[in-house]
Amino acid sequence: MAGKIRFAPSPTGYLHEGHLLSALYVWAAAKKWNLHVHLRIEDHDRGRTRQAYIDGIREDLEWLGFEYDSYSIQSERTEIYQGVLNKLAEQNYVYPCTCSRKQLEAENPKSETGEIIYQGKCRILADSLKLKEEGGSGSILPPHNLRFKIVDKVINWTDYRLGDFSENPAKQCGDFPIQDREGCWTYQFAVCVDDLDQEITHIIRGEDIRNSTARQIALSETICQVSGRPYNRPLYLHHALIVDASGKKLSKRELAHSIRQDKEAGISAETLLGRVVFKAGFQNEDSPIALHDAIDKIATSL
Ligand code: GLU
Ligand code: ZN
Repeated sequence: MAGKIRFAPSPTGYLHEGHLLSALYVWAAAKKWNLHVHLRIEDHDRGRTRQAYIDGIREDLEWLGFEYDSYSIQSERTEIYQGVLNKLAEQNYVYPCTCSRKQLEAENPKSETGEIIYQGKCRILADSLKLKEEGGSGSILPPHNLRFKIVDKVINWTDYRLGDFSENPAKQCGDFPIQDREGCWTYQFAVCVDDLDQEITHIIRGEDIRNSTARQIALSETICQVSGRPYNRPLYLHHALIVDASGKKLSKRELAHSIRQDKEAGISAETLLGRVVFKAGFQNEDSPIALHDAIDKIATSL
């Protein structure tokens, strides 16, 4: 195999049409570039994860015909995340942030997209507080998350579809959490650790997460540096999202409509695949399509 790609759904709901399009892209890239396919269940958000969704995602993928070469689930990898956190903490890349949501809102500017750009208030405290060996759930501190000290520099990166980007995460969002107040690993942290550890060479996902990429590159570089390993940047491709007839992104309600509901209503896998391939603009009619034909259609577009 020439590399490894992953499909990484979060089990906070059942699969919907958006996931199905991502999956088609992932399996299309795997076919085109001869990649190993890894299924990663991203259940880092303990509050929103449900076992029924984890089981449902795997069953629905099987029902649709998607086969994968390996599998992991983030909740079984907590020691690995803790080990990486310890390495970052040893090198002084992590600090506790006790700011409340209210304080964060009141004390920091926002980006054009409405995102808080954390100004690093708690960094000042960081040097006077020593993180406990196991990574910092120190009992002397009030509730806090652990933030990553992002290096202030421009990251130049290229998206396979969208072209070149120059972004400085320090200016876009500032230091971001790697573990939240409840002790959950954050998406940014778990995804970086997993992509490195699982030797992912190709990352294909929806355009809605594009602005995480520079952050993930920055964090991955630092993780590699503190672990004394080389960093090989993966190929990134962010695909367009499915839009409705008027060209708008799918609404919450449409996204909540799951493949499972359609399956239970007796709609065939081919009908569902055809609908998604049609909505994504890869075929002119809303007609059924076999999985391998759907994959081929998208593979030719890459
Ligand atoms: N778990 C994320 C999601 O379901 C995808 C993460 C990624 O591909 O980097 O939206
Ligand atoms: Zn803070």
